[in-house]
Amino acid sequence: MMIRIIPALLLATVLADRAPRAVEDKYLETIKVSENVYVFKPKIDWAHGNGVAILAPEGVFFIDTYLQFNYAEEAIRRLKKITKLPVKYVFNTHSHNDHTSGNGVFRRIYPESRLIVNEASVVGLEGRVKAKVEGEKAFIDGELAQADTEVKLGKTIRGGTVLTGTMKEYWELSLREAREYRQQYRPEKYVSPDIVFGDTLVMRWGNLTLKMIHMRDDGHSRADMIVWIPEQRLLVAGDLVVAPTPYYSLPGITKAVRALIAMNPAIIIPGHGPVEYDLSYMQLLERAFSTYQRAAEAAVAARIPERRAMDSIAFRDIDRAFTGGDGLASDAFRSIVAPRQLTFGCAVRGRGRRGRFISGRSGEGRRDHAGGNQNGRRGGE
Ligand SMILES: [Zn+2]
Repeated sequence: MMIRIIPALLLATVLADRAPRAVEDKYLETIKVSENVYVFKPKIDWAHGNGVAILAPEGVFFIDTYLQFNYAEEAIRRLKKITKLPVKYVFNTHSHNDHTSGNGVFRRIYPESRLIVNEASVVGLEGRVKAKVEGEKAFIDGELAQADTEVKLGKTIRGGTVLTGTMKEYWELSLREAREYRQQYRPEKYVSPDIVFGDTLVMRWGNLTLKMIHMRDDGHSRADMIVWIPEQRLLVAGDLVVAPTPYYSLPGITKAVRALIAMNPAIIIPGHGPVEYDLSYMQLLERAFSTYQRAAEAAVAARIPERRAMDSIAFRDIDRAFTGGDGLASDAFRSIVAPRQLTFGCAVRGRGRRGRFISGRSGEGRRDHAGGNQNGRRGGE
């Protein structure tokens, strides 16, 4: 008997080795936000945007598809645990890579699904996003090499910030994730938009109304879309709202955030970061941006030289309200946030300090798609 059992076990072992290893679902968490709305939220906020599923009897409407293919795959595995219904529509809040790279993963798994975007997103998708999707392997290799070098050096390549505490943990996690992504990588196709609209698209979805609205203030990009569900006063804000620290912002951000506050949403799903159930974070954003803007206008009016003005504008209480004094959040805040970018916008393009928040290679970053360099690259969008 033993003799027969042993080869069977050996065979089982060999087969197990050949079978693709099950991928662990560990990058996202599933959050039920309302009766029919789920968020698949990345555990790392800065690099990775949120994905949102809106369920109806006819299928799933999915908003934003992540920076990496493997994140999109995990979101779909999680969605399949909630519903057997297929994804019918994919919608992008804007064209940046961290919200659109996985469009092809959704199309591969749900071939009947259709991609809806605003007309202002098309140029970015057909140019930058297509190039990133088709060059994903080189992108991963670049990210991996940079993370590997920085972790070994114990500091960032640009800027030379020493990696300690939460920053060190984050860098090590980024390196592990980049290694895993490289192992899991398989090519995906770029998907062109199927349905393109102008100002607003209103759609009935089950018992909900989905209002896709182009916010024309240019607060984060030239194509900032929100989705408003009036029945639940639920706002999918795209990157006009990003937590725990805001992203690169254009001067229109103050006006855009005010408009969102005026809608008085009960539930806010930000482009990145935790779901919010009151207005307090958006009010903090409004206070921060308007303070920066006033300081910037005063500096310009007084003809203070640009560089000196940038160095002198500091609002420590606001900084701390975002970062809570945490090392990683503070680094993100210093790297990304206005006043410097917001204040002088295009004038300081290319001068932003760069770290792991910003990836120069892809046009958009891992933790940040947001610095001055990015702005330059993104011109015209
Ligand atoms: Zn984003």
